[in-house]
Amino acid sequence: MSIHFYNTISRQKEEFLSIEEKKVRMYTCGPTVYDFAHIGNYRTFMFEDLLRRYLEFRGYEVIQAMNITDVDDNTIRRSREKGVSLKELTNEYKAGFHADLKSLNIQPAHQYPEATQYVSEMIEMVQELEKMGFAYKTDDGSVYFDIGKYDGYGKLAHLKPDEMERGERVTDDSYEKEGARDFALWKGYKPEDGDVEWDSPWGKGRPGWHIECSVMSTELLGAHFDIHCGGVDNIFPHHENELAQSVCANGSKFVNYWMHSEYLLVDNKKMSKSLNNFYTLRDLLDKKYPLAAIRWMLLTTHYRQKLNFSVERLDEAQKAVNRLREFVSKLADYDGQGHDDGKNSVMSAKADFTAAMDDDLNISGGLAAIFELVRWGNRAMDNEELSKEGAGKILKLVQSFEHVLGVLTMKEEPSPKLDTVYIESKIAERNAARANKDFARSDAIRDELADQGIELIDTPDGTKWKLK
Ligand code: AMP
Ligand code: ZN
Repeated sequence: MSIHFYNTISRQKEEFLSIEEKKVRMYTCGPTVYDFAHIGNYRTFMFEDLLRRYLEFRGYEVIQAMNITDVDDNTIRRSREKGVSLKELTNEYKAGFHADLKSLNIQPAHQYPEATQYVSEMIEMVQELEKMGFAYKTDDGSVYFDIGKYDGYGKLAHLKPDEMERGERVTDDSYEKEGARDFALWKGYKPEDGDVEWDSPWGKGRPGWHIECSVMSTELLGAHFDIHCGGVDNIFPHHENELAQSVCANGSKFVNYWMHSEYLLVDNKKMSKSLNNFYTLRDLLDKKYPLAAIRWMLLTTHYRQKLNFSVERLDEAQKAVNRLREFVSKLADYDGQGHDDGKNSVMSAKADFTAAMDDDLNISGGLAAIFELVRWGNRAMDNEELSKEGAGKILKLVQSFEHVLGVLTMKEEPSPKLDTVYIESKIAERNAARANKDFARSDAIRDELADQGIELIDTPDGTKWKLK
């Protein structure tokens, strides 16, 4: 049996074949940290979590990188509005993001590269594109990608020829698909950028948004990898532009499968910061909605269908979680003496769950298989038809489904937001200790942070941290 995923670029379900046997490299576009992420954002991150968890269930090792956009038009504007430095602003929301991921039981990515840590590599890629004739400089010290120079432009978003305005430029990182234009790889310095600037061969400036993902995915996963994900609004222009940059700069195929999740809606409109119709995780927790209900609600509608947020849905979600939790404790406590060893039910539930999920993560089918087992199991226990050993087998299967759902074992307490200033100060202290070759002290600081659930990762660009 093979897995099939819907590939945005071909608009078809395709058999999933990994580049390396039983290993999947996946890049997922992460948040822009200028505000708290809303639960619409978390719908997309939840879909990516489901995808990874299911591939792991099917025996793949998954290597996931998720970028953090910590410099762009939005972050710079917000830091000026708030009168704080870009780093202060982004550190705060980055910490909030990691805490939310942990609260929602989303498995942490293996790497969270931050755009500001990769600016020199971005400059190199832009230089490469310029050298090969795919990019040109403008009078204001910016560099643009010339979409007319790359034949494949528009393939991912399925742009029609009349949707491409060759020779025209767009400065904003995000814009509508009709009227695709040359886009900024590098933005020449403007006074609004304040102290956010880097030296480059084109003068002072900062990267455009799209180049970060081409560079960081190449650095961490290689030029050609298996899966690239995001929400549907990432298809154009972000992923279209990433594809163009990567293919032209690296001269190789970029990604085998593009997967995008549909929107979370509120009253049939996209949940978004610009429409001010959003809820953060905190908003829902303040209203006393349990984390497990929130996770279940976001997880259990197929990722390519729009999902309307509603309080009723959260209530239904909580009921489903309770039902499954009650089943698990009933199985664990069961002491009946029936003769049914549960083998057939276990086999068919596993086969039905896998067949559904293999079909482009058909979660409704997957859940139907699980709840069929719940119905059967409850009846068999009530009638004492099930053996104790059979209950154990069913419990083991439900626990393996739990690796995919990640909901039964969730903690009800949200993860606290971290004091990033404190963490950064500890990292600085550790750096100083290491520079003085005081390794006992530097190890002690690492252990001290580890006790608080914070893991330090040493990279060529300095020490990063993440929640364990
Ligand atoms: P941003 O922080 O705006 O870069 O968005 C982070 C991720 O959330 C991107 O992959 C978006 O596609 C996704 N996203 C934004 N709004 C929604 C929504 N209403 N429903 C689902 N995904 C969304
Ligand atoms: Zn991206």
